[in-house]
Amino acid sequence: MEKHHKFSIWYVLLGIWLVLIVQQYLGSFFSIEVIPYSQFLKLLKENKITEVAISTNQIQGKMKMEGEGAGKEKMFRSIRVDPETSKLLEQYNVNFKGEIESDFLPRLLSWIVPTAIFFGVWFFFMRRMMGQQQGFMTLGKNKAKIYMESELDVSFEDVAGVDEAKQELVEVVEFLKGPEKFTELGGKLPKGVLLVGPPGTGKTLLAKAVAGESGVPFFSLSGSEFVEMFVGLGAARVRDLFEQAKKQAPCIVFIDELDALGKARGFGAVGGHDEREQTLNQLLVEMDGFDPTAGVILLAATNRPEILDPALLRPGRFDRQILVDRPDKLGREQILRVHLKNIKVVRTLDIEKVAAMTPGMVGADLANLVNEAALLAVRKNKQKVSMAEFEEAIERVVAGLEKKNRLINPKEREIVAYHELGHAVVALSLPEADPVQKISIIPRGIAALGYTLQVPTGDRFLMKKNELLTRIATLLGGRAAEEIIFDDISTGAHNDLSRATDIALSMVKEYGMSGKVGQVYFARKKTAQFLDMVGQGAAEYSEATAELIDDEVREIISTQYARALDILRGKKQFLEKAAHVLLEKEKIDGEELKALMAENS
Ligand code: ADP
Ligand code: MG
Ligand code: ZN
Repeated sequence: MEKHHKFSIWYVLLGIWLVLIVQQYLGSFFSIEVIPYSQFLKLLKENKITEVAISTNQIQGKMKMEGEGAGKEKMFRSIRVDPETSKLLEQYNVNFKGEIESDFLPRLLSWIVPTAIFFGVWFFFMRRMMGQQQGFMTLGKNKAKIYMESELDVSFEDVAGVDEAKQELVEVVEFLKGPEKFTELGGKLPKGVLLVGPPGTGKTLLAKAVAGESGVPFFSLSGSEFVEMFVGLGAARVRDLFEQAKKQAPCIVFIDELDALGKARGFGAVGGHDEREQTLNQLLVEMDGFDPTAGVILLAATNRPEILDPALLRPGRFDRQILVDRPDKLGREQILRVHLKNIKVVRTLDIEKVAAMTPGMVGADLANLVNEAALLAVRKNKQKVSMAEFEEAIERVVAGLEKKNRLINPKEREIVAYHELGHAVVALSLPEADPVQKISIIPRGIAALGYTLQVPTGDRFLMKKNELLTRIATLLGGRAAEEIIFDDISTGAHNDLSRATDIALSMVKEYGMSGKVGQVYFARKKTAQFLDMVGQGAAEYSEATAELIDDEVREIISTQYARALDILRGKKQFLEKAAHVLLEKEKIDGEELKALMAENS
């Protein structure tokens, strides 16, 4: 279409030119003889002029012919000369003729200039409209190119404090550097890698670093961009993106904010969001259709994995998930070092101390902090940034963060530390418990406050009664520790209590593990659940049994709580020591804790 517009300007010019040609041609066709004015006057005196028509500038008419065509008449035209001058000239017998100043050029210009301006303006607006339309019509072809960043100079060195995630991504980099090597060995790679973690922890940065390290093209699009578009275009854009990526393989396709696009379908009964659904479906189709050995790696990032459509997480799609959690103290120190490279700091700056002062902050917060400190130094006309600026900057940044998500409170940290240690120590003391892998009290990480990670030794299909009881004791260990250390308890245990109660309930109602209730199965059938709500399905046991069940559950819980208290009372000193370490490092390995416990018993 653009071509067509350019052409029409040429058509106009061609038209003007043709008209001029035709005019000339017509003129010569009627063969009007142009004669000088002096000749006209002469002919007039000789009585040769038969008829004239006078206009302001010229005289046109017929005159008698001489010589060959004598007797006939022919047309003539002469440009007038003003009478005064002509009289004078006649006196002296001068041949003279009038001349009309050629107004051809000015006339043409007066025509062309406005026309050109008009066309120019029209063209400009057309172009702009077309540009927008093209965005819709060629379905992001241009967009994807814009997002193709071929020269990324981000490397793994720029991303700090997320070593576990980096380790997992190294394999992806290896693959992208030499896909042949992998396929020859029959190696299989995940199609999709999902980076999961709180905002600002460096997910986008990591994705770029993977591209930078492997030196392959990087196509990136944000989930929210898909959703803003018109119906059907998001899907087409996804198709187009993958098409382009396949041509550029090996390469990386990165979808940021996957949650915006991949929210579970079927929510929002009123109308729903068709567009997003279509786009998501297209993404799923593309993921199923592409062969990972072709060398295209799909990376995505989200900070809300829980709302993702389960279809996205099925095997063969985003089947590998990498956690990018908030950094611990050491991680923060490393991140600070990365960002401090760009500014001048005094040599005595204690980076470790800065890291210790910023629990809960993520990479983005720390980058902001360094920047803030540098600005403060500039304001104070200092050559180098020192601890004083960092302290001031931390105050500012923390004040901002606290408003946002209530970050650090030393008393709470202490409670969380003892609580988590309570779980871990109970687990370590009971042989049937799953091994403790890690304790963390980094606030607002994957858990709200802290977590104790226990990893089962293998897949479990059967659980013994004693193991279930141990699980309950471990869950109650958190609260038990709080009671022992602070002589008070907090709300931090509500999730533990809910899980412990669930286990106890199952033991009594489903597994027949309670002596008083007996070997019976009382759990409601799943289908009856909804009927229950409208009062149709009656409980399958009597009031008395219900009371008995309640009593048994309470009995199990309180026995296990007593057991946890018992274990922890004997280890109060160790608890205090371990809490000290945990508060300092924010994270402890299971092995480390075990060693510490062996030392202190
Ligand atoms: P996310 O995508 O997880 O929300 P980003 O990758 O966009 O976070 O991080 C924003 C900025 O914060 C980065 O550009 C970088 O300057 C800084 N940053 C975040 N995490 C890290 C990290 N682990 N190491 C170094 N810098 C980081
Ligand atoms: Mg991001
Ligand atoms: Zn707990």
